[in-house]
Parts: sequence; structure tokens; C-alpha cells
Amino acid sequence: MSQTPALSLSGIVKRFGPLEVLRGVDLSARHGDVVAILGASGSGKSTLLRCANLLEVPEAGEISVAGEVLRLKTRPDGSRVAADRRQLDRVRTSLGMVFQQFNLWAHMTVLDNVVEAPVHVQKRNRAECVAEAEALLEKVGIADKRHHYPAHLSGGQQQRAAIARALAMRPAAMLFDEPTSSLDPELVGEVLRVIRTLAEEGRTMLLVTHELGFAREVASRAVFLHRGAIEEDGPPAQVFGAPKSERCRQFIAAQL
Ligand code: ADP
Ligand code: MG
Repeated sequence: MSQTPALSLSGIVKRFGPLEVLRGVDLSARHGDVVAILGASGSGKSTLLRCANLLEVPEAGEISVAGEVLRLKTRPDGSRVAADRRQLDRVRTSLGMVFQQFNLWAHMTVLDNVVEAPVHVQKRNRAECVAEAEALLEKVGIADKRHHYPAHLSGGQQQRAAIARALAMRPAAMLFDEPTSSLDPELVGEVLRVIRTLAEEGRTMLLVTHELGFAREVASRAVFLHRGAIEEDGPPAQVFGAPKSERCRQFIAAQL
């Protein structure tokens, strides 16, 4: 088993103007880890996931995916940007991001949503991508919707399509940012079931969620973020059951 982490973030600092949103975060996931990221609203969870694939560029810190360090350069004004566009594209496609708001392309069918990036970004063979996409839609339980447009799907079906789309890039890790938070309660279960299956398959995932019971069951590790810093990091039994941090304990207690 390789010791190289699937994803490693070290010393991540992110500021928005005067606000320091991430204050030197270290987080790494080994292959097969499911890392639950907990924390109050505004603690920096989304920003951390967005830094991992450079949707936000951190002012300091290093990101590596499957051992490949993302190269950044500093501009004259002090801000940083990716130094190598092709490396950035490659790294981005190896991190499958699933957002709270499904973010499917509205003008494309479900199947086209899933094959778009593998064909146009990864330049893979179209027929092979279509076959793989159909298998993924089968896996998430919406194969019968493949020729429908997103607007004709329920929220739970759209989110499952978004998961299939992320998986189609054969990512090194999946990043979930509150994937069930905008769903009606009766649709949450069907999405969590898919995520559970992925966890059981040994896929590497970072999972931001307020579904604490679910997180405790599927995560191999949990971290609690407080005002841009990791306050608690350990096995779920510790983080959920006997946290060392008083703030983490209060957070968990307030959610139950
Ligand atoms: P969480 O996902 O834990 O709720 P976020 O990462 O979304 O937290 O936000 C952390 C903090 O950063 C919040 O105070 C938020 O208002 C601020 N923030 C996030 N994105 C931006 C942005 N693009 N510009 C300015 N402030 C931002
Ligand atoms: Mg968020």
C-alpha cells in the first residue's frame, strides 16, 4: 500500500481582505480515507475544499494530489496563481467536487453532463466514456434518466447525477460540500446511500456535512474546524464521542 497521501494540504492560509478564513490548516487523506469535516457555519469548511482544487488560491501553504505538488507562482501584487495551467487542469480533474447546489449544466442531458469532462478535458474516447457514464448512472440509480435534462429531475436525482459526473473523471479523491443540505428531507437518504457505497468501495473522500450520525458511521476520520483552524482531529469515536476540545463537544451536543 502506497504511503503517499491521495490528497495533502499543508499550512493552508486563506484571507479575504482583512479576514483570515483559514489559519494554517494541515489535512491529509490517505487512499481510502473518508474524512468528515465538521464545523459551524462560517468556520471555513467550504473555503478549505475550494482551496484543495484551487477554486480559491491560498496565500500560503502547499497542496499535493497523489504526490504531485501543485506549482504556484507569486504575482507582483503578492497574490498567487497556478504556475502551470495544464497541471492545474489535471489536478482539478483528479478531485471530483460535489456542491450543495448540484451545479449540473442545465442545457445538457444527464448523460452529456457526465461525459463532458472525460471527453473534452481528459480527451478520452467518446464511446468508452459513454459506456462508463451509463454504468455510473446505473450505480447511482438514475440510468433511466440519462436522456433527461436536469430541470426534469428531483433534487436527489440531480445530486446523484452530479456524483456520477464527478466519478466519471476517475478522481483520486472526491470532495463533498454539504451534498444533502439543499435537499428536501425525504430525498436526503437516497444521496447518503450513494455516498455510503462509495465509502465502502474504499474511495478517498473529504466530506463536509451536517449529517453527524451519517458522518460518524462512514468516516474513517473526523476533523472539527473552528474559525479557520483544526481544533479536533481523530477517529470518529473520539471526535463524536469524547472530543478533547470543549468547543467541539459543544458543537456536537448542539447538533443532536
Ligand atoms: P463554511 O463553509 O464553514 O460555512 P466558508 O468557508 O464558506 O465557511 O466561509 C468562511 C468565512 O469566509 C466566512 O466568514 C465567509 O463569510 C468568508 N468568505 C467565504 N468566501 C468569501 C469570499 N469569496 N469573499 C469574502 N469572504 C468570504
Ligand atoms: Mg460551506
